[in-house]
Amino acid sequence: MENPNTIDPPRELRADERAVLEKLLSIHFPGVEALRQQIPYTRVREECGCGCPSVWLDVDRAQAPQAETDGSVPVEAFAPAPDDSTLIWIMLHVWEGFLDELELVPPEEDSPFPMPRAESLQVSGWE
Ligand SMILES: [Zn+2]
Repeated sequence: MENPNTIDPPRELRADERAVLEKLLSIHFPGVEALRQQIPYTRVREECGCGCPSVWLDVDRAQAPQAETDGSVPVEAFAPAPDDSTLIWIMLHVWEGFLDELELVPPEEDSPFPMPRAESLQVSGWE
């Protein structure tokens, strides 16, 4: 998670990013309905420079409702790494009630990997 690359102007979510976001928001937790409504108004403003697929997000706050979540990481998930030997940890960060970062923690430092397939995610909320 270093040297983020600023995307100017912010770009649309890619299909794989959107699928992972939708998967994370497929379970129930406080504020999830508002977060789902933010997806169409979400753009990517920064990409991580380390080779992982983490992205920082911008929501058009005039268009989408603010979410009331419990804490700033209301949902997390694990997905198998590409070589299946270990797990990638995925966290959705919310800032001031809006989608802020899709963070994927690499299984090892400095080992680039692609966005996991949404179907491979094991999603859980913080209980
Ligand atoms: Zn990274």
